Amino acid sequence: AANWRPDAQTFGRILLYQGDITRVDTDAIVNAANSSLLGGGGVDGAIHRAGGPAILEECRQIKARQGGCPTGEAVLTTGGALPASYVIHTVGPVWNGGTKGEAELLANCYRNSLRLAAENQLTSVAFPGISTGIYGYPKADAARIAVREVQAFLKGNELPATVVFVAYDEEARWVYEQEL
Ligand code: ADP
Repeated sequence: AANWRPDAQTFGRILLYQGDITRVDTDAIVNAANSSLLGGGGVDGAIHRAGGPAILEECRQIKARQGGCPTGEAVLTTGGALPASYVIHTVGPVWNGGTKGEAELLANCYRNSLRLAAENQLTSVAFPGISTGIYGYPKADAARIAVREVQAFLKGNELPATVVFVAYDEEARWVYEQEL
């Protein structure tokens, strides 16, 4: 498990880390999945590559049981070979100009992921910028929603104790810094 803590900035219970989420050693990392749960590109591909087949196997079982994961909702699987014990798969909205309920759906991703973490007694959770890659959500707007929802949830709940925002590049890090 990689040691990410030295270059994380802390904002109380919220940390900001720049790097690869597959190397982050929190109880759970969040995946920006698609509704099929069967894997894709971007962070989803990286998580399945690094975590190995156990994650996809559980995703297949969930899909067989409930037909996938609707936008805004979240499901929990093993972390397989990742340093994180679990993966929370949430499905972000595809950006469509902002008038198709994208903001509320993105907020739901954060709320439902955090609720799942709390229900499973998880102490620490790391989030990528859900929807801000292939799904095209403007990064600053997405970061504003992410920070607002995480702060609101932490105010009302003891768990998770720590939430890490993972910025994949310097621009994303800067955007989170502005919001935090
Ligand atoms: P979506 O389809 O929800 O937009 P993407 O995976 O395309 O999901 O991108 C989501 C965000 O994850 C983007 O900001 C992208 O830069 C970032 N990202 C991609 N790979 C990684 C990684 N290995 N670790 C952390 N963040 C990543």
